Amino acid sequence: MAGGKTVHEVTPLAPGLYLVATPIGAARDITLRALDVLASADVLAAEDTRTLRHLMEIHGIALGNRPLVACHDHNEAQTSPRLVQAIAEGKSVAYASEAGTPMVSDPGFPLARAVIAVGQKVTAAPGPSAALCALMVAGLPTDRFVFAGFPPSQKSARRSFLQELAAIEATLVLYESPKRINQMLQDCCEILGDGRTMALCRELTKRFEEVIRGSLAEVRQAIADRDLKGEIVLVIGRGAAVAVDAATIGAALYRALEEMSVKDAAAAVAEAFDLPRREVYQMALQRTKP
Ligand code: SAM
Repeated sequence: MAGGKTVHEVTPLAPGLYLVATPIGAARDITLRALDVLASADVLAAEDTRTLRHLMEIHGIALGNRPLVACHDHNEAQTSPRLVQAIAEGKSVAYASEAGTPMVSDPGFPLARAVIAVGQKVTAAPGPSAALCALMVAGLPTDRFVFAGFPPSQKSARRSFLQELAAIEATLVLYESPKRINQMLQDCCEILGDGRTMALCRELTKRFEEVIRGSLAEVRQAIADRDLKGEIVLVIGRGAAVAVDAATIGAALYRALEEMSVKDAAAAVAEAFDLPRREVYQMALQRTKP
């Protein structure tokens, strides 16, 4: 029940997979169509069955005697064939990940691919996603953006990942754990350039929602002494218009030289800041002079 009366409709669904986006915080962000699909599907599948059951309870949707199947990263390969079989037998299957849009840094891809491979229909009940929600509040250009998911947790892999992103002329959208946020922002400052404008979007649509905007250096400074909790999206504006100062290039070179040869370090930093390679090589040579 929502607002005292049932808002969903139970109607027979055509056979197929229905990917259902669910709220990233506020339970009432679910769409009416998502509720209809959850109320009507023959089989329900979820990354976290308890979370889906709870969401259905909030909205007054009875599971009845319909199966509710757990389908997550660790069992998707085994569970998908069963769900594909159910669809082949004429059933409608609704799938929800734990929060937000399935397949966006969440399970669902192997299942959807398997359903498509046997020529069955995949339908989306679109709705919330933290990436788009963050773009809405960040105050940064959205005409061209790249969703890059979670950065690698290992430092050198994360730095290479950022070096690739540095060359992209677009607003960047990343997910990050609060445990690694300080380290991540430090690497962003060094590799993307600390003048880039960004927004750190935390706990979106929840009680303690917070958006911290500023340059990468400013946001890094603003959270340095805080023990951030909750869920975080980073939105980082494009870099080309921002002039990079010598200190930033120097700091990036310093880091790169810890792990790479002079030539490779110069190449990586030149690429990251879109600078002439020869110029950066000269700077790197100066730094390595005894
Ligand atoms: N499928 C989800 C979607 O469509 O956004 C993302 C799932 S991913 C496993 C979880 C990550 O999304 C979190 O670690 C965080 O980076 C981001 N996230 C999810 N909910 C959020 C929220 N309410 N506020 C900020 N970030 C959120």
